[in-house]
Amino acid sequence: MKKLLSIICLMSMTGAYAEQISCSPENKQLDIKQAVKWYRDSAEKKALYNQTYGVATLYVQNWVKLNRPKATTWGVILDIDETTLDNSWYFRECGELASSESDFSHYVANPEKSTALPGVVTFTNLIHQLGGYVSLVSNRDGSFKDDTGSVLETTITNLKQQQIYFDQVVLANLRDSEMPSNKNPRFEAINSAKYDSKQMVWSNKLPAHKVIAYFGDNIQDFPKFKQATTNALDENDAQYKVFGNGYFIMPNPMYGSWEKNPYN
Ligand SMILES: [Mg+2]
Repeated sequence: MKKLLSIICLMSMTGAYAEQISCSPENKQLDIKQAVKWYRDSAEKKALYNQTYGVATLYVQNWVKLNRPKATTWGVILDIDETTLDNSWYFRECGELASSESDFSHYVANPEKSTALPGVVTFTNLIHQLGGYVSLVSNRDGSFKDDTGSVLETTITNLKQQQIYFDQVVLANLRDSEMPSNKNPRFEAINSAKYDSKQMVWSNKLPAHKVIAYFGDNIQDFPKFKQATTNALDENDAQYKVFGNGYFIMPNPMYGSWEKNPYN
């Protein structure tokens, strides 16, 4: 069955890439087709990314105007998948989710086929021009390496190909960390410049600096936010008021920590 699925996926893929990589053998969620269609082929998705990066631009420009910070004393943190890079090609071609972070790394990250999302190239370059750092913090498995590549290296190559500006990339360490999906240790490392190799894998270290804005498509891309406790809040709870005001969230109907919530 696994072999059959791989062959089917390979048949639907084109170019030299198809010879190098196959789809994950997992095939549990064919019902994501509608979500993938919306993500790939709706004006609303493009408008939402432009809207979010546009609001964030005004927020950062205003913060810089008010605080007049010295260069490299401040920065922003962005997630990668479905925040800076669009991986929907994978779901389109394979009709499935890569169910584990390692599978995601193998099948989605290493091919270097992902594209910059609307607004992100301009936004990240603007932060650099304003004197801020751009840190990319992802749950891609930085400890993953096989004959398709090292996830840290392929991620950096793909980001550069897409002209997304960044000063560092900080990934999860699925091999050694007991809580690889928890980004808080990585956020703290960027704030303090104390990096723990058991918890994370990084491209390079930056000096400690103040983080003024966070970007993600998953509620858990934001410090201290957890899916279950946040989803249990009243929908008008004050905790949601940070969004649009330092925290900036992107739409992702294809996958996320929300999948485990009960279907009410
Ligand atoms: Mg993401």
